[in-house]
Amino acid sequence: MSDIQAVMTRVTRTEMVGEHLVRVSVAGEELRTLPWGESGPGPRADAYFKVVIPAPGRDHVRVDSSDLSRWRQEYLSRPETERGWIRTYTLRDARVVTTERGEVPEMDIDVVVHEDDVHGGLGPGARWGSQLVPADTVQLLVPSATGTWWACWDEHRAGNNHVVLAGDETAVPAAAAIVDCVDQAISLGKDSAPAPGAPQTLHVAVEVPSHGDATLPAGPAALSRGVMSNGDIRVTLDSGTELTWTWLERGESAARNEPLESWLRQQLEGRAATARHAASATGEEGDEDTGEFVWATADAAGHGPYWFLAAESSAVKSLRRMCVSHGVPKTDISFMGYWKRGRATE
Ligand SMILES: Cc1cc2nc3c(=O)[nH]c(=O)nc-3n(C[C@H](O)[C@H](O)[C@H](O)COP(=O)(O)OP(=O)(O)OC[C@H]3O[C@@H](n4cnc5c(N)ncnc54)[C@H](O)[C@@H]3O)c2cc1C
Repeated sequence: MSDIQAVMTRVTRTEMVGEHLVRVSVAGEELRTLPWGESGPGPRADAYFKVVIPAPGRDHVRVDSSDLSRWRQEYLSRPETERGWIRTYTLRDARVVTTERGEVPEMDIDVVVHEDDVHGGLGPGARWGSQLVPADTVQLLVPSATGTWWACWDEHRAGNNHVVLAGDETAVPAAAAIVDCVDQAISLGKDSAPAPGAPQTLHVAVEVPSHGDATLPAGPAALSRGVMSNGDIRVTLDSGTELTWTWLERGESAARNEPLESWLRQQLEGRAATARHAASATGEEGDEDTGEFVWATADAAGHGPYWFLAAESSAVKSLRRMCVSHGVPKTDISFMGYWKRGRATE
């Protein structure tokens, strides 16, 4: 049996939860077949899936998940005007809702409505997210009931540890869902075993385009219980984790990644105990821009504070380089390029 499956859902509602962020809720019987485990539909840290977006005026393509590599080759060989696009999004949250067809799972997808600053207009994913209306059909490629969630968050690495999570607007859904999971002690494992100890501290900093994106609904549920302190929102999660959440608004004046870089520099310089050694000592070879998307996860066996970085590919590389130059072992860092400037992401 394949670990990947295509499921059909229908849009139940859409809502702007930030100036550049639309929440698309989809529901359907077929969502039961995701690997929810005993705890049932809910957030699953940074778990992601694919959306198969039809070309305008075309029907949904049929995905042959029994032979996905052959199907993918055949799919990619067709023009986009015929086949449409495949894009990656995060499972922001899920629940069971009552519809006229009975109780079915419903899940939320938070889509960044971004301009393509290289080619102009909206990217196909951004356009798709902003044009959906209730009852539209949405096809997803997701793990099957026998599979495991596709995710990078390592709850064992985070357990009883100090965690820093930094990202751009595309990582807000992942950051929020990770916090929700820590708060509610939801494990990524199918057996719904309790997480292996919650993080002691979790500092999240997310760079968003504007003040209108730093909203309560875009963040984790716990923010509503938080208190403001020096521009950060602080709250003790139900798991005992001390959460600090920082919105970094880019606004008109800052370049992309500038607020995140200066925030991270301050964090690193504030960690007096961090052993300093030059980036060259830990080796940056092989780190040049290869034109590929960057993706590496922290060593599961490591014990140092856990760094989780998700943003545009060159931005995330620069953030990791800064961490390493301040003495953070590469093996303590997970870094994921969620998109790449000037390039479409299938
Ligand atoms: C694991 C994972 C999880 C993700 N989760 C989410 C999520 O929950 N929500 C979400 O919105 N995105 C998420 N993304 C990012 C999303 O897949 C990309 O932003 C994707 O490129 C959007 O597709 P598009 O069709 O709009 O643009 P594309 O066709 O891929 O790109 C068109 C152009 O727009 C640029 N571009 C792409 N994304 C952005 C952006 N965000 N801001 C500015 N310019 C951009 C590209 O560089 C390119 O020039 C995730 C990515 C990964 C890998």
